[in-house]
Amino acid sequence: MSSTTRICFDCTQCGRCCHDLRLTLSLDEAIVWAGNGHQVQVLCEAIPWPRDPLPDERELASRRDTSFAVEIGGMPFRIHVMLVAYHQGACPHLQADMRCGNYANRPRICRIYPLESRPFTPMAPASRKCPDEAWATKAPVLLEDGVIADRATQEIVAAHRQARIDDSAALEAACAQLGISDAAFAGDGMAVHAPDPAILADSLGRARASSDALSGIGHWEIVTNRQATLELLREAQCPARLVSSAAAFLGSFEPDS
Ligand code: SF4
Ligand code: SF4
Repeated sequence: MSSTTRICFDCTQCGRCCHDLRLTLSLDEAIVWAGNGHQVQVLCEAIPWPRDPLPDERELASRRDTSFAVEIGGMPFRIHVMLVAYHQGACPHLQADMRCGNYANRPRICRIYPLESRPFTPMAPASRKCPDEAWATKAPVLLEDGVIADRATQEIVAAHRQARIDDSAALEAACAQLGISDAAFAGDGMAVHAPDPAILADSLGRARASSDALSGIGHWEIVTNRQATLELLREAQCPARLVSSAAAFLGSFEPDS
């Protein structure tokens, strides 16, 4: 006898997901968000890349497809860049009644929450900001055996993931234009860059128009907030340095004291 795993959900419009934001944006969404004067951070990680994925290594292939190749200290890495709308407290578009003042133009990530935007990562209700009552079993079905129930939402998630692939060359060009060169060692966290919104919007727009001509010119360095990672990299003769500023590093671990 087979059993179905079903997750039901109905948004209560509590507004919690519109506070303390790090919203993953596509390049085109980031041009609009930053162009409106709102902060977009550029998060970077460096993934050691000794070989390309085998045909059945789909998760590794996905990491390849959303990154670009570089050499650091003569070693092969791939740089994974994310653009995230960043705001402490309420989103600048959130109205007093907890409705979105940017509803028609809100980014895809807002349209799919609380679904998981990353492939290969199951959605976990406990990791979401939604209150318990949003997950009542009498609510509409959100996921059935891990599959999104609503066809239109499936398409938004697919478009969000495809944009992450399509944007990778332009993101390499944009980082070169902006002088962004620090990337966290993969697994330790993400290096955080916070360009002026107007400059970022302009660079992203130019990178979108000319990414082919600008790819392959960036110079990258690895940063970490962990002494153990620094020593590991130095033993491998890979150049790296410690960062201590919390504003410059979004760590997966507590920084070394
Ligand atoms: S754009 Fe709208 S839905 Fe998205 S975080 Fe802001 S207020 Fe919420
Ligand atoms: S946190 Fe969940 S329930 Fe609250 S507004 Fe956001 S999606 Fe809706």
